[in-house]
Amino acid sequence: MKVAVRSDIGRVRTNNEDAFLADSGRGLFIVADGMGGIIGGEVASRLAVKAVPEYLRDHLGADAGTEDIRAALMGALVEANRQIRERTDTQTELRGMGTTIVFALVRGDTAFLVHVGDSRAYLVRGDTIRQLTEDHSVVAQFARAGTITSEEARSHKLKHVLSQALGSSPSLAPGLLTMRLRHRDSIILCTDGVTDMVEDVELASIVRTCGEDVERACEEIVARANEKGGRDNITVAILRED
Ligand code: CA
Repeated sequence: MKVAVRSDIGRVRTNNEDAFLADSGRGLFIVADGMGGIIGGEVASRLAVKAVPEYLRDHLGADAGTEDIRAALMGALVEANRQIRERTDTQTELRGMGTTIVFALVRGDTAFLVHVGDSRAYLVRGDTIRQLTEDHSVVAQFARAGTITSEEARSHKLKHVLSQALGSSPSLAPGLLTMRLRHRDSIILCTDGVTDMVEDVELASIVRTCGEDVERACEEIVARANEKGGRDNITVAILRED
């Protein structure tokens, strides 16, 4: 599997509240997008990106079966949520902080995809791109209910209001998907600084054109998001099955 990740501050923000981890040895790839206060966003996303691998290291054996893995992934999110909430309770300047998270745990040819919030996972397979995650946002709920169209959702004034996030939700209902990877499949993990700027078809086109050169694909996606305004922090990871 080939893996690359890039994170960029963008053209407007003065700090980068996104965080990521790419651990090929453990097959763990995480992207998180923090929010809240002057420093809270950075603290929350970094806490999540640290808490999840620590929990998995202690609770997930090399020979774990699918059910054990799913239980450990859920446990990792609960623990990350607990740690962020605990920090929020003890440090007033961090009150209100939270973070999205999307991550992939890859074992053999199986990928477990987990998310909370509106950071996304996509699958690029052949000529198609498919969003694997459903945004946990108020606007995505409207769109699923048919109250607004998906086009209206892209520019809706409430589009950044999340229905759940690590740290700001007492209980979580994460997305959890298990999929079998095929030869030359690519998984994209990214924050909304990518998806607000770059259309899905463009993401697919860049990933397809770059092929095995996943480093270049990440660089081009970051460059494209910046060309279109770079209004937010930009983080993208690409995992390509051999
Ligand atoms: Ca963001």
